[in-house]
This record gives sequence, structure tokens and C-alpha cells, in this order.
Amino acid sequence: MFDVKERAKALNPQIIEWRRHIHAAPELGLELPQTEAFVLQELRKMGIEKIRSGVGGHGVIALIEGTAPGRVLGLRADMDALNVAEDTGLPFAAKNGWMHACGHDAHTAMLLGAGSLLMQCRDELRGAVSLIFQPSEENGLGAPAMIADGALENPKVDALVGLHTGGLWKGAVAGEIGICPGAMMASSDWFTVTFTGRGGHGATPHLTVDPISIACQVYTTLQTIVSRETSPLTPVVVTVASIHGGTANNVIPPACRMEGTLRALTPESRAFIQERFRQICEEVAHAMRGSATVEYQFSAPPLVNDRAMTEKLRHAAADLLGPEHVHEIEEPTMGAEDVAFFLEKVPGTFFFHPSFRADGQSFPHHHPKFDIDESVLWVGAGTFVQFALSWQ
Ligand SMILES: [Zn+2]
Ligand SMILES: [Zn+2]
Repeated sequence: MFDVKERAKALNPQIIEWRRHIHAAPELGLELPQTEAFVLQELRKMGIEKIRSGVGGHGVIALIEGTAPGRVLGLRADMDALNVAEDTGLPFAAKNGWMHACGHDAHTAMLLGAGSLLMQCRDELRGAVSLIFQPSEENGLGAPAMIADGALENPKVDALVGLHTGGLWKGAVAGEIGICPGAMMASSDWFTVTFTGRGGHGATPHLTVDPISIACQVYTTLQTIVSRETSPLTPVVVTVASIHGGTANNVIPPACRMEGTLRALTPESRAFIQERFRQICEEVAHAMRGSATVEYQFSAPPLVNDRAMTEKLRHAAADLLGPEHVHEIEEPTMGAEDVAFFLEKVPGTFFFHPSFRADGQSFPHHHPKFDIDESVLWVGAGTFVQFALSWQ
């Protein structure tokens, strides 16, 4: 029997080396040619033959086939960095003004680790594993781009597992993992509303239709979506993050713009708040003799973990780490993750890989001093492999 724990631990120095290499050369969004080339090179070194690159731009998919027939598992890692200038002082810190400040460098390295381990235990693997290296998670474009380019086809992916490292959830420490049956993260949609009135002199408001006054009424009424229209037991977020209108202290402007985000944990509540948001903007503006144009940019759907897959992950992780090191995440977050696009198509589960330092000295995600505890990278790679060997 392949000892996943022992072999994953033995691979940790290599996983750290991969992570540092990727960390030193961060790339943004859909444009990750260097990261793609590096991942390709390392996958080929492992002897993996069935590799597709350029999937959805710069995504990479590598297929590892077991010796016995079975279904296909997708393991997904995101590879993109952030437009943040690094200030960690680490010897492998990025110097190009961008930074892996969310830990996606570690995700890529852990998935390479899983690939390396799976190639060592192919004779015990049933079915196949598709390693999915995805660009552009931070802006939610990478997963839909890869799916549109056939990431879940040829062969058809039957289940999918992904992870996030760092400190996104409380309650577990580095070296453990957090699982979550059901809703784990929110949908994320963006809105831009343009209120149009009729501009004029600040001294004669009665001769104008004031779009700032409309925006203020709408802003207030929007609060009732959460407080009066949604069940107190159904979490939703309506955030107006910017309002811009006007240029001078004696001019009523002709228009005013409002931007922000809507979040929800179920497809039903997501659809409900989108509809009510639009109605309130349009009808309050209309009642005040103006008009509103609502534009949505739809991003990730709610991230809902399949309960049966999550249970399988609980068993796999408990086998690897001991049941006392597998925690259930009790509170979902209203943050979003574009792995939800994959989990909308195939049943699967996303888990949390805590890697913040035990001394509490870690900086939050997206911070210029963000860093992780590299000694636990084997836990992510090992959990992927243990699941792959046991889920069918
Ligand atoms: Zn992030
Ligand atoms: Zn992230």
C-alpha cells in the first residue's frame, strides 16, 4: 500500500521549491505564460503524457490514468497573483510589482505535488485524475474560460475537489483542514446604476430632477432588501460601495452613478435580491420623476459543496491526518471563489487548508506582507491524493 502521508511529507521540500519559484514570478489574470510554461515543464518531468495547455488562455490540464477502470476526478488549483507590491522581505519575494498575496502559488505547488505522488501510485489508482491548473481566479474569469474551452470534457470529469490555503476561516490551525458540507461561500455579482434626472441651478431645485436625491432615497430603500424582504436566517449582502455625482457646489448634476456588490448563499436568494434590487432602483427613481439604468456583471455563483463528496473528503482527510485534525467549518463566508463555476457543473467539494502561523503573526490575504507556513504544504497535496485513491 502506498503510504500517502510518508510520501507527501517526503515531497514537502520539493513542493516548497515549486512554490518559491512561482512566488518569485507572479502573473495576473488570464495572462500567465511563464507560470503555464513552468507548470508544463514540471508535469513533463513527472512523465505525464496527456497534457493540454492553453486551455481558456493559459490554463493547463494534465490527465493521470490509473490501471483499473473508473470515473474521472478533477483536482483544481488557481495560479494567478494580485496587483500588490510585495513587502515580505523574503529571499524569494517578487520584484515585479505584483504578488502572490492570496496563496495561489501554494495551490499550484500543492497540485504539482499531488501529480507527482499520483504518478508514484498509479497502480493503486482507479479511473483517472485530471489536474486542472486555472488562471484568473481573483476576477472570476478563469474558471468559466476553462469550462468554455472544454476543461470538464474529454474525458468527462465526474467530480471535483479544490482547496484554499491561508487564514480565510477560523477554528483550524496549520496542518489541519476545514471541510464544509453545503453552502461555503457566496455568489458575487457587481452592479452599476446610473440615475438620470434633469440638471440645473442649485438655487432652483424645483426646476430640476435631482439624481443625487434619487440615489439617496434608493440607497435607503435598498436596506430593506436585507432587513425586511429576506428571512433573517438567509444571509445576503447588499453593499453600495461608491456613489458619484456632481461637479460644483451650485450645480445639480444631470446624472449620478452608484456601484457595489450583491452576495448570496443560494441560487434562489441570489435571483431574488437581483430582481428586488433592480425594481427598487427603477421604481423609486420613477416615483421621483427620474430614471435608473441597472447593469449587472454576474460573477461566481454560490459555492455549494456536495454533501456526499464532502463526507468522502472527511474520511480521506481523517485517514491521512487523524480525525481530530479535520474540522467542520460552521459559518460560511460571504467572500466568493470562482471554483463555484466548476461545482455548479459537477458534484464536488472545496476545502480549507489552514497555513497561518500559530503565533498569530500572519497578515491577512491580499496584504503586502501576506505569507504562509510552508511546512504544511504536504497536507494539501496529501489530502488530494488520499481522496483520489478512495472516492470511487
Ligand atoms: Zn484572493
Ligand atoms: Zn484566493
